[in-house]
Formats: sequence, structure tokens, C-alpha cells
Amino acid sequence: MSIQVTSVSKTYKTQKALNEVSFSAGKGQIIGFLGPNGAGKSTMMKILTGFIKPEKGAVFVDEIDVLQDSLKAQKSIGYLPEHNPLYTDMYVREYLQFHAEIFNISTALNGTQKSQIEICIEKVGLTTEAHKKINQLSKGYQQRVGLAAAILHNPNVLILDEPTTGLDPNQLLEIRTLIKELGKDKTVLFSTHIMQEVEAVCDRVIIIQKGEILVDKTLAELQNSTEQVIKVVFNTTIGVSQFDQLEHLISSKNTYKNTWLLTFKNEEDMRPKLFDFAQKNNFKILELSLENKTLESLFTELTQSVISGKAVV
Ligand code: ADP
Repeated sequence: MSIQVTSVSKTYKTQKALNEVSFSAGKGQIIGFLGPNGAGKSTMMKILTGFIKPEKGAVFVDEIDVLQDSLKAQKSIGYLPEHNPLYTDMYVREYLQFHAEIFNISTALNGTQKSQIEICIEKVGLTTEAHKKINQLSKGYQQRVGLAAAILHNPNVLILDEPTTGLDPNQLLEIRTLIKELGKDKTVLFSTHIMQEVEAVCDRVIIIQKGEILVDKTLAELQNSTEQVIKVVFNTTIGVSQFDQLEHLISSKNTYKNTWLLTFKNEEDMRPKLFDFAQKNNFKILELSLENKTLESLFTELTQSVISGKAVV
């Protein structure tokens, strides 16, 4: 396993930030670490990278015990901290050289006569901007500098703390594409509070709320486990009690005249059952459509359900 976290708990003075968090990740996975502000994402990332220690639990990266030997583990980890701290007065290459020196990374020419710095500049798409000072770069390109620094030592695991915060829509797309590209041969854990981002980039999502993991599923599993919402327009008025005949129905909402939003929790497509229901009761269906729940609404529901104390998935 590239990442193995077992029963990790962390408290800052009286503030519990993580409570018995466990998860693992294998090579080639891109995991979206999703949660509202204050959920514990940064804390988990700082523990994974060896910057802070939990009071309880075990953390292994590339089979190395992070809590026992953080320096060794850091050789396997590329970390882009939140707010990407850069020395903005430096030139791009100068900064990457400086970063390599303080982290003792060899940047010697490889067999193809390219230094590790040039290889990383190319990998993150910085070539046209690499001659500039960092403070002359757009926020998107500054993120690329942070990413280049994070991959300089060719780590197996990439930990990116909110890498797309503050980017404009174009930069956002570019950085997402880049993360996907980098994730082909690495394990990537990146935090975000935006569900669409997870849909766009990840194959797996871990949702954390108040220091506890609520969901740990592949994107496909999550999409399948969501409820089926069907919009149906009948030719006549229906009394809510008539829906009692419908199996797997968990809620019904009358949105306009004879228009209803019916939510089912079942893997089978419920639309044929609705036709049977209409026929049996002598109604006509004028319109029928499947309104799949977006992951965004699922996320909102999940995180809010914790506050109200009811489980959704
Ligand atoms: P996230 O990254 O999901 O926004 P954090 O890991 O930063 O969440 O924070 C989790 C909780 O721990 C929050 O309640 C936050 O206020 C608290 N916290 C984080 N860092 C510290 C700190 N250095 N001292 C005290 N409390 C902290």
C-alpha cells in the first residue's frame, strides 16, 4: 500500500481535529479528500507528511513508518501545502534549484542530458514561463511551480492541500488536468471542498466531516449508491397516500400542479414501475424523466445529515 492510515486521532488543546481516522490507498489512485472547512483535511495531510504527530494511530507511506522515520518517508512524498509557500522574488529555475538543495535532491543530468529540474518544468507545463520571476507569474503558473517542486525528487505519493483554491476557471481546468496526468504513476491525495472537482479528477473520494470519515468509496460506487430521483407529470391530481403503493419510494414532492419529484432508493430503474402504477390506477403519465442526483447535492446532504444526525449513504 502507498498510504496506510490506521486509527489516527489528533487534538489541538481542546479541539478534536481527527477521530479514529483509517484509510489506505494503492498505487495509481487519485483520491479526493473532501470536506467542509475545519473538517480535518489539512491536519491529516500534515500528519501524513510527518509535519505534525497524532497522539494516537499509525501512518505508513510506501511501507515506511512516518511517525518513526519521517525523513525517510518524506523521500516518498511530494507535498504541496495549502497556500503554496514560494519565494516569489526568485526566478523559477533558481527557486527549484534552491528547493532541490535544501531537500538534498540530486538534479544532475540524467541519461537524456536533461536535469531533473528541466524534466519537472516540462512535466508541469512551465517551459514558456520558466525564465521569469515567480512574482511575475499568474496564480495558475505559481501553482505549477509548487507542483514542480513537489515532484522534483520523483516521489510515489503526492499530497496536495487545496491545490486549486483561488484559480480562475481556465487555470482550474489546467491544474486539474495536470493532477490527472501526474496521478497516472503516483498515488495522489488531494484535498478540496468542491465536489465537482472530485468528479472531474478522482477515481475515489473520501469525505471527512468533523474529523471523521463519512464515506470512502470509488466514484462509481458513490454514483450507484445515490438515490434515483424521477420527475413525473400525471394527467390528473394525485393524493400523496396513493404513492404508498410504490415500493422503495423514500420521498415525494409536489413541485407544480400535477408534477412530482419522486425519490427512490433502489438500484433497479423505477420508471417502468411508475408506468405500471399509472396503468393500475387509471392515470396517464404525460412526462417522465430521471433526474440523477449530482454528487454536489449528495455531498451537501451528507455533510448536513451529520449535523442533523441522520445517515444518508
Ligand atoms: P480543514 O483542512 O479541513 O479545513 P483543519 O485540519 O485545518 O481542517 O482543521 C481541523 C480542526 O482543527 C478545525 O476545527 C481547526 O480550527 C482546528 N485546528 C487546525 N489547526 C489548529 C491549530 N494549530 N491549533 C488549534 N486548532 C487547530
